[in-house]
Amino acid sequence: MKGDRSAEPAAWEGPAHSRATPTSRASPVELLLQVGASLHATLVVDRQGRIVWMDPVLAGAAGWRSGPPVGHSAQEVLGGLPWLLHAFDAALAGTDGLCEDGGEGQRLSAVVVPVFDEDGTQVGACARLRKSERPRPEAAGAPQALCLGAVEERRAREHLEHQTSLLRATFDSITDGVIVVDLARRITAFNKRFQEIWGLTDAMMEERDAEKALASVEPRVTAPGRFIAFIREGFEPTFEYRSSIVELRDGRVLECKSIPQLLGEAIIGRIWSYRDVTAERQALAEQARLLVAEQEARERLEESFAVLDTFLNHAPVALGFIGRDLRYLRSNDALAALHGRRREEELGKTVREMTPQMAPFVEPLMRQVLDEGTPIIGLNMTGEVPSTPGEQRHWNVSYYPVRTASGTILGVGVVVAEITAEYRAQAERDRLLREAEEAIRIRDDFMSIAAHELKTPLTPLKLHLQMLKGQADTGHGVASRHVDKALAQLARLSLLVNDLLDTSRIQAGKLELATEPIPLREFIREVLLDFRGTSSLHSLRFEAPDEPLVILGDRARLAQVLTNLVENAFKYSPTGGTIRVTARRMGTEACVSVKDEGIGIPKEEQAHLFERFFRARNAPISGFGGLGLGLYICRDIIERHGGRIWVESEVEHGSTFHFVLPCL
Ligand code: ADP
Repeated sequence: MKGDRSAEPAAWEGPAHSRATPTSRASPVELLLQVGASLHATLVVDRQGRIVWMDPVLAGAAGWRSGPPVGHSAQEVLGGLPWLLHAFDAALAGTDGLCEDGGEGQRLSAVVVPVFDEDGTQVGACARLRKSERPRPEAAGAPQALCLGAVEERRAREHLEHQTSLLRATFDSITDGVIVVDLARRITAFNKRFQEIWGLTDAMMEERDAEKALASVEPRVTAPGRFIAFIREGFEPTFEYRSSIVELRDGRVLECKSIPQLLGEAIIGRIWSYRDVTAERQALAEQARLLVAEQEARERLEESFAVLDTFLNHAPVALGFIGRDLRYLRSNDALAALHGRRREEELGKTVREMTPQMAPFVEPLMRQVLDEGTPIIGLNMTGEVPSTPGEQRHWNVSYYPVRTASGTILGVGVVVAEITAEYRAQAERDRLLREAEEAIRIRDDFMSIAAHELKTPLTPLKLHLQMLKGQADTGHGVASRHVDKALAQLARLSLLVNDLLDTSRIQAGKLELATEPIPLREFIREVLLDFRGTSSLHSLRFEAPDEPLVILGDRARLAQVLTNLVENAFKYSPTGGTIRVTARRMGTEACVSVKDEGIGIPKEEQAHLFERFFRARNAPISGFGGLGLGLYICRDIIERHGGRIWVESEVEHGSTFHFVLPCL
């Protein structure tokens, strides 16, 4: 073993290539410890026979009770194991030895080898012990040192070389950079990866000076002060396990861990390992960046949805998004309101659930959009919705296919614009237009009727006046019947003109009343006197009230009303009959009725009788003309007196006109 370097524990020395130039030198104690560790020695002594390291169990077996044996002489400590001491003496004298001792059935054997430095100088000796059950040979007597045979020595060396190469390969193949520094701050071991990580040259490592190596890596660290302090703290012997993150200026990040190097229970140095966690850190940083980006994207999306919701909910039209299963995925307040719901209640509900009345019309349209992918725009719809049951409303509706970027149709976008107001306005405009056209027609009719009515009395009037003139020219006396006839036509003309004037006064709100208390019975009698002998076909009867009825009214205007009603009764009973005028009390009112047996008035036209220019379609069969103004004026006069006027009639069974006035 002496001078045979191949048997030395290379893994304790550093990478194999560093041994090519053995410029550095371990101290004798280090060398002893390294060799001792590699041999799994239980006892190591230096050249002077002082204990460098001793297994506490062995110290106990040797009977040593005086504290740590390190530093004491083997002589003192191994007093209880004289055979071992003997073997050490031999080893320190340069002889390899094998010795043994034993009790009954068990014995201890020890291989004790001298340890030499590179120069061949002996620095001490190591002993490795083992237990053996083999019975002691009879011949064996007192312990003795035996010389190691050549075969056993070779086996031991080969075993050591095998273990050493295994350790070396393992040490150099790990991905962590490892360095071992002893208490004297000397580098006792390191691997290739350590050199690579820190970029340290072989020359630097050969020096084995931990402080120098530290100084050379200092500029590469971003926070050198902290790093140096961390490493130096580790140089002090402590059982503490330590770790730190070291950032390098080139961007790499190292994870540093350190543990004490122990020989038995004693700290003999510290092991540092460095792992390049740059990629890991970058991955973590990237992950964090992605998380932030995702968070930001989510926030932007939420913002977009918030903006969308704001627009949706403040849009003047109803908007919704319906999925392929015709369920609401989104809707705005306006659409929900149509359904008489809140927006949240719509989500997930079917179209049929929300609008049962409209579903039969709208579902096929939505399916068409989903199937064909083409929009349906500007459809006018009329129907009923749950929010306003029984009311027909009108909408302008559009359906759009909603697609993903790849073109898949996700659902239908619905836009519903309420046009009920416009629709009703249009209907109102149409009605007004019809009325205006009707008014124009009536006016035109009136013009021709008025012209006719005004002209009709003129011809007989002219005739009678010509006859009167002829009689006057020939010196004959003027025939009074011509004068009467002319006056009658004049009266008729005058009535027509008065009706026209009254109508225009009513229209202008200028028909005025001069009221006075009127005893009704006498008043009616007086008016009816004018009709005496008017017609041979008719008989006129007055059924006077049982009690005196007095009203407050305009005598002339009320006479005009009664006259008009009685004249009509005559006029529209061309075949004659009885005309009955009655007056009676009806509660606080006096009711006057004029009943005839004439042509009657069609039911559907009765409501229009009191309108301006209205003439029933059967009026012409009476053979009399008229402007359709009399009843219009009558109603206005009666209503100005605080009364009412109405008619009961049946075609061909006569008519009865009633009016009531408040009694005094
Ligand atoms: P006019 O008799 O000049 O046409 P009115 O205003 O007095 O105008 O009457 C309006 C219409 O009412 C008449 O054209 C006629 O069609 C109907 N009418 C009025 N009185 C009677 C009646 N007694 N019997 C049947 N129709 C009547």
